[in-house]
Amino acid sequence: MTPFPVAMIFVLIFGLCVGSFLNVVVARLPAGRSIISPGSTCPGCGSAIAWYDNLPVLSYAMLHASCRTCRTQISWRYPAVELTCGVLFAMAYLHFGPSLKLVGTLILLSGLIAITGIDLDHQIIPDVLSIPGIVAGLLWSLTPYGIGWEGSCPRHFWPAAAKRGRIRCRSGRFSPWEAWSASSGVTHFSAGISLSS
Ligand SMILES: [Zn+2]
Repeated sequence: MTPFPVAMIFVLIFGLCVGSFLNVVVARLPAGRSIISPGSTCPGCGSAIAWYDNLPVLSYAMLHASCRTCRTQISWRYPAVELTCGVLFAMAYLHFGPSLKLVGTLILLSGLIAITGIDLDHQIIPDVLSIPGIVAGLLWSLTPYGIGWEGSCPRHFWPAAAKRGRIRCRSGRFSPWEAWSASSGVTHFSAGISLSS
């Protein structure tokens, strides 16, 4: 078995790369453009971005947040999405370990990150992401590997909190993953309210 820190670093780097792809999804999907081709180009001068200028987070830092050709500023959003994805993937790996549950979680996380970026930019959630996401999430929750409704709901915390007078989760302590799932539970709840109103 791969030593834990090595696997962890691999998952982090994988998350950074997926985050880089999600930046493309966020930029192109609402415009109806292909997310496969052409490759990334500078929004300032239109020049193709070479692979070595497209490394997640690293290239942003090495190029001082600007295009190599025309020096157009590159938004901080790109490395922020990459870092967010990398850190969330690593947190999920910490929580689930190498398992089928991790695979499903990473797929759903990727969808949620893309949806968050598009929603922030355009105040829309494209059907092409939300409808398959709803179906996949519900089907996944029925399997032994899925995140049950309790795990994605603030109620996960409340019964224990009421009994003991303070907020604790079932395992007796918060993991970063549980904090995330509670916050996503709040998001689901508010999304449900806005859909029903
Ligand atoms: Zn440029």
